[in-house]
Amino acid sequence: MADKINAVKGMNDILPASVPRTDKLPDSALWHWFESTVREVLARYGYQYIVTPVVEPTALFVRGLGEVTDIVEKEMYSFTDSMNGDKLTLRPEATAGIVRAMVEHNALYNGPLRLWTMGPMFRHERPQKGRYRQFHQLDVEALGFAGPDVDAELILMVRALWKQLGLIEGQHVRLELNSLGQPAERQAHRDALVRHFEAHADLLDEDAKRRLHSNPLRILDTKNPAMQAMVEAAPQLMDFLGDESRAHFDAVRAVLDAAGLEYRVNPRLVRGMDYYNLTVFEWVTDQLGSQGTVCGGGRYDGLIGQMGGKPAPAVGFGLGVERLLLLIQALGLPVPAPAPAVYAIAPQPAQLPQAMVALEALRAAGVRVLLHAGGGSMKAQFKKADASGAAFALIFGEDEVARGEVTVKALRDGSGAQVLRPLSDVAAWAATLQFPASPGTTP
Ligand code: ATP
Ligand code: MG
Repeated sequence: MADKINAVKGMNDILPASVPRTDKLPDSALWHWFESTVREVLARYGYQYIVTPVVEPTALFVRGLGEVTDIVEKEMYSFTDSMNGDKLTLRPEATAGIVRAMVEHNALYNGPLRLWTMGPMFRHERPQKGRYRQFHQLDVEALGFAGPDVDAELILMVRALWKQLGLIEGQHVRLELNSLGQPAERQAHRDALVRHFEAHADLLDEDAKRRLHSNPLRILDTKNPAMQAMVEAAPQLMDFLGDESRAHFDAVRAVLDAAGLEYRVNPRLVRGMDYYNLTVFEWVTDQLGSQGTVCGGGRYDGLIGQMGGKPAPAVGFGLGVERLLLLIQALGLPVPAPAPAVYAIAPQPAQLPQAMVALEALRAAGVRVLLHAGGGSMKAQFKKADASGAAFALIFGEDEVARGEVTVKALRDGSGAQVLRPLSDVAAWAATLQFPASPGTTP
């Protein structure tokens, strides 16, 4: 046998639940259910779908995210196109690409847009539970909106998604909120921060020293225990906010309060990208260890102008699909299982043509049919029919098919009742049945 070729480290297959695997990654049914739930919930808020390329010019992320960010400094998959020497990068996040597309197509000319996308992102990080090199994000962006109303709406929309997925807000996931103010306010705060850090220069680690003048705000993000107390005592941005920034923040909070959404104002919440201002937020869980942020976002009013577009405000968030599905699995939440309605058995090959023609009619009528392909004993075939979760088995035996009939056996009502039905009418009969999505649970 030839050598096996395996997937790239940190990049995963999402497989049907029936495929045994040793890692705890979500199965494709859970994934699929999440996708359809997202579609349904986002449609309620008027968000439109967008798809942008996975590969973008490297300069897009360097300019968009900021040169001194974890992503640009050390996490990007960048390469030179050997055909023409172009510097390219596998997208590490979705916002920069969407903004690029909006600027390129002058898309905000006719007014603001609410957009969403979902797909793979790439970051060269150390793979561990909830952290991968290829991972997926649901990414939502509201472009051209300046007011706090859309900030609040985005947060409420995520809460609606949690509800639809069975996650309990305040218990399984909690909201953290902050305001980063405006550039001038941040500058004043930044100056005060640098003075504070300089006064405690003996406590700074290598990372912090390097960032002291390039990006002192990121020092607040440090995970170094030796620096915690000093960081706690640092001047807080909240005290540098002007009236307008404060009013924006208060207006977001007023909506959340009215909607009964609990949150914690976390003055130390800063985001990994440079482009944020005013509202920033994260949804966090304590069920996933240090990979506890499932969703993060905020306002980025300067980015569109910075990317060469006519300046326009915007706000958005990214949600880590793998992390969220790991959380749903860890909590054992019920996930609708996509069972077939009918499991079809044709014990003898001679009846296959008639059976398969009849099954096509069922499917054309919208009925989910799983054909037992591949033979085996009758006992084994019934076992498969049971395990499939189907409500009925159709048995295309030699005698009944010769009479123009098929055996219909109930699998789910405990009766095991069997009746004969004319082949000519079985599709019409099946189409009248109600098949509720059977609630199952993922292991
Ligand atoms: P972290 O602090 O955990 O590295 P981040 O601030 O880098 O997260 P964002 O850039 O805000 O993350 O991305 C939004 C979401 O995407 C995160 O909240 C997380 O759920 C998910 N995410 C980010 N990086 C990864 C990764 N390497 N693997 C899986 N999910 C990720
Ligand atoms: Mg990160």
